[in-house]
Amino acid sequence: MPARVLDGKAIASRVREEVAEEVRAYAAQHDEAPGLATVLVGDDPASAVYVAGKQRACAEVGIRGYDHRLGADVPEPELTALLDELNGDPRVSGVLLQLPVPPPLDGTALTGWIAPLKDVDGLTAESAGRLALGREGLRPATPSGVMRLLGEAGTELAGAEAVVIGRSNLFGKPMAQLLLRADATVTICHSRTRDLAEVCRRADVLIAAVGRANLVCGDWVKPGATVIDVGMNRLATDPPTLTGDVDFEAVREVAGVITPVPGGVGPMTIACLLRNTVRAARLQRDEAAPALRGRAA
Ligand code: NAP
Repeated sequence: MPARVLDGKAIASRVREEVAEEVRAYAAQHDEAPGLATVLVGDDPASAVYVAGKQRACAEVGIRGYDHRLGADVPEPELTALLDELNGDPRVSGVLLQLPVPPPLDGTALTGWIAPLKDVDGLTAESAGRLALGREGLRPATPSGVMRLLGEAGTELAGAEAVVIGRSNLFGKPMAQLLLRADATVTICHSRTRDLAEVCRRADVLIAAVGRANLVCGDWVKPGATVIDVGMNRLATDPPTLTGDVDFEAVREVAGVITPVPGGVGPMTIACLLRNTVRAARLQRDEAAPALRGRAA
């Protein structure tokens, strides 16, 4: 029997409705809605599309958007001064620096400039450390979205063999941490992994985040496994197509549950970013996790 295909668009739309409700409750309590500031440096067209999508999504759920755009040649002190200003602005609950930034700017160092309580991308050393230590904090949006998809799929994680292909700070590492917190037995694979196919065949939950179209073949997958495809590969076909890291047609004949590309993980990322913005607003008011503020937390 072919795998059940998870509808990420429908699930993300439910998450957005939940967030809209949380925004209404927050605004009723505090007389102002949470706010998200996006900072875009340079004129990369893909980044501009992502930022516009985030701003539009904010407006749809009632989050105030602050859209900052700087030229590719902006001096670093000017950019860090803006991040400082946003860190100190009480109307701004979350700050997002769109990556990548143009060279010679250093995206990792600049991300570290964002106040941990406003780090809605969950990419600062403080947020990554809190996740690794199992403490309260803001989690990266895409891995959070995958956890929600796994929940919706009814996939049992406790004791399950989970294999994540990809070890980036943006996705692979935080994904592995979240799975570990859910009591899965986690293996992280990368470009130097020996016999990747054999490792993948062990997985009850297989998550691919590589950036290589159709890397995961049908015979890499354990029958009945849950397969989550994070990859986004733009193929130069006419018209251009977006495809994942998983050979969807072959793998759906073997897997129990599978996400499509597009329409799987992608829509969950913005939905979880919106959720993080409301959570950040509450954290700054000490409502969600007072322990986050304390030195000993
Ligand atoms: P990345 O930083 O380029 O990391 C890719 C990872 O894949 C690296 O760890 C690399 O290993 C590993 N890798 C490369 N070739 C491999 C191979 N042949 N076999 C096994 N592992 C291999 O990318 P990323 O930012 O994590 O993103 C990965 C993919 O997910 C991209 O397609 C990206 O567009 C997509 N993505 C989608 C969303 C979304 O919202 N849907 C969000 C984030 C990312 P090494 O570390 O050894 O180099």
